Amino acid sequence: MSIIYIVVPCYNEEQVLPETSSVLKKKLRTLIADNKISDKSRIVFVNDGSGDSTWSLIEQLASEDNIFQGIKLSRNKGHQNALLAGLMTVKDHCDAAISMDADLQDDINAIDEMIEKFEGGCDIVYGVRSERKTDTFFKKSTAQAYYKLLALMGVDIVYNHADYRLMSRRALGDLEQFREVNLFLRGIVPMIGYKTDTVYYERHERFAGESKYPLKKMLAFAMEGITSFSVKPIRFITSAGFILFVLSILMLIYFLVRHFTGHTVAGWTSLAFSVWAIGGLQLLAIGIVGEYIGKIYMETKARPKYIIEKYLHNDDK
Ligand code: UDP
Ligand code: MG
Repeated sequence: MSIIYIVVPCYNEEQVLPETSSVLKKKLRTLIADNKISDKSRIVFVNDGSGDSTWSLIEQLASEDNIFQGIKLSRNKGHQNALLAGLMTVKDHCDAAISMDADLQDDINAIDEMIEKFEGGCDIVYGVRSERKTDTFFKKSTAQAYYKLLALMGVDIVYNHADYRLMSRRALGDLEQFREVNLFLRGIVPMIGYKTDTVYYERHERFAGESKYPLKKMLAFAMEGITSFSVKPIRFITSAGFILFVLSILMLIYFLVRHFTGHTVAGWTSLAFSVWAIGGLQLLAIGIVGEYIGKIYMETKARPKYIIEKYLHNDDK
């Protein structure tokens, strides 16, 4: 029987943790009782530098029952880094790890099917939302447009899949080989390969607390997905620049002809327009190039993505 670890990043989740922990515990105990998974399976909460009582709740859980483990990051590092910290910490203790959010938005009953597919030889099983009923119209439409944009940019990504997935020990080992600092797991995991499958589930509403992804974080995350995986924006700018250059030569010939045939007019409008159009385009191009240079800069630093302050596990008690 396989040892399954469930990894849950938590940022200011004191309102949901008591419920989440008891629901997950019940789930895991049932799976153990049904002989579907090993009794060495665990639930690991990663505290991502929460400012509330999240960590003390985790400490309490871990001391009461060794099915719970806690990892405390030294400060807030963001969802993706917290998740990676958890996965990399548990990868040598489990046969497969399932990552999910703390707010129970992802249906935990999909876990059964994920484990079945894993036992059937899959290394990665993606949880995919079958519907987006509970999301606001704004979130739903922007998310859909975003997936289309990513596909257009050539980024290999699973449609409607967030970070609810099962990864085998082998796949986790490979994930470790991706040394990038700008982390967008949804884009990296499909690059690993192996036999994969999907499990469909309905996404619920966050049952307490509020989203830890305000619009600002969401936009930054969306930008991350594109600039970390695709050089198409930069290519687009290059071709636009090239076309504009060819056009300007044709225009120059036209202007010279007009000049020598004596038809010069005070073309202030077109001149002023050109200055602004080209100025704007140049700024945009510099901005995008800067985006990539910024990434190169960050990557060359090769900073650790997280620092683990504590790893709580009471197995040898
Ligand atoms: N999260 C985190 N660090 C952060 C922000 C969020 O660990 O800086 C966790 C959060 O606790 C939750 C998961 O990431 O378990 C997803 O966040 P949330 O549910 O708020 O996002 P949404 O479902 O609204 O997209
Ligand atoms: Mg959520």
